[in-house]
Amino acid sequence: MRYKESKEQSAELLRTVLALMGQHDAAFNPVTFTVWYEFAAGMNARLTQAIESALQNEPRLGDDALDRLYQAYVAEADPAAMQRISGELQRMMAGMAASALRTGDRAGVFGEQLRGLTVALNTNNPAAMTPLVNEALAGTVEMRSSAQELEQQVLVSCREIERLHVDLIRARDEAVLDPLTRVLNRKGFDQELASMLAQPPAPGSTHGLIMLDIDHFKLVNDSHGHVMGDRVIQALGEVLRSCVTGKAHSVARYGGEEFAILLPHSTLDFSMALADTVRLRTRAMKIRDRRTQEVVLTVTISAGVAAMQAGDDAQGLIERADAALYKSKESGRDCVTCA
Ligand code: GH3
Ligand code: MG
Ligand code: MG
Repeated sequence: MRYKESKEQSAELLRTVLALMGQHDAAFNPVTFTVWYEFAAGMNARLTQAIESALQNEPRLGDDALDRLYQAYVAEADPAAMQRISGELQRMMAGMAASALRTGDRAGVFGEQLRGLTVALNTNNPAAMTPLVNEALAGTVEMRSSAQELEQQVLVSCREIERLHVDLIRARDEAVLDPLTRVLNRKGFDQELASMLAQPPAPGSTHGLIMLDIDHFKLVNDSHGHVMGDRVIQALGEVLRSCVTGKAHSVARYGGEEFAILLPHSTLDFSMALADTVRLRTRAMKIRDRRTQEVVLTVTISAGVAAMQAGDDAQGLIERADAALYKSKESGRDCVTCA
């Protein structure tokens, strides 16, 4: 179960959500409701962060912004993983409920025993009291063990919930990661690009996009085989992850042997310099035979850099970076061109 709030807590959240929906421009529908609900409940840290940053540029969020937030931070988890996690949570909650029920039943019987004892105390009849005291004593012991069982169950459940929470975050991240290189996949790239283009660049900066592609990669596959080809792609992924260190910057595998770097709030000079650093580090990368450690091959990349212009959409920006990349290929490869 994704939502753990009680009826009362969720009623409280509902009021906040309705107020938030009223303050913003998006329509009232289940998508916008879910985004605001998770925001109000403070249960989705990445979503909260994204909303807070979106609000800095756009104080009233509309349908597009809400839909983007929903797609990026609420709806991206792999359905199979979600089903497993939700199944585990349900099983755990059922266990806890059964335990609580047992404790509740036990508490009812115990209460009856105590009530009987109180009546007997009022009659001042010691003979009638003895069996009642014994019963209540036994009841206390049972009550204690029943409460301990519940406490234990709650403790185990808390740990389980923490573990499932980590699983959930991982499942959401996995959905946007490329398994070979551990950088964003195409879906992650599309989401990050949309979110970059949705915010205006900070004064004096621009949003940058670098597209890069391995040179003559077909030859690598043809002469060394696909497994070695995959190792090259993997190694380039590592180079990219080590070069792109800006917190807001991201790397994605755009497809095959082509990668992209998103540089929100940056400058064209910075993007060009970063593309060249990647180019030089890739050139210096040595793919070795795992057994003999002998250098088997080296590769180069070509890159195209584009900066966002007024009125640019995702396609326009990608096309300009791609055209610049094509020019790099035409001018002999192993170089960086600016759109
Ligand atoms: P250019 O310098 O013009 O980019 O030449 P190229 O040979 O790199 O370009 P081309 O588009 O002709 O070939 C790309 C090759 O990349 C073809 C495809 O089989 C290979 N490829 C794409 N994805 C993968 C992958 O995941 N693993 C491996 N091993 N090869 C891949
Ligand atoms: Mg290529
Ligand atoms: Mg290519």
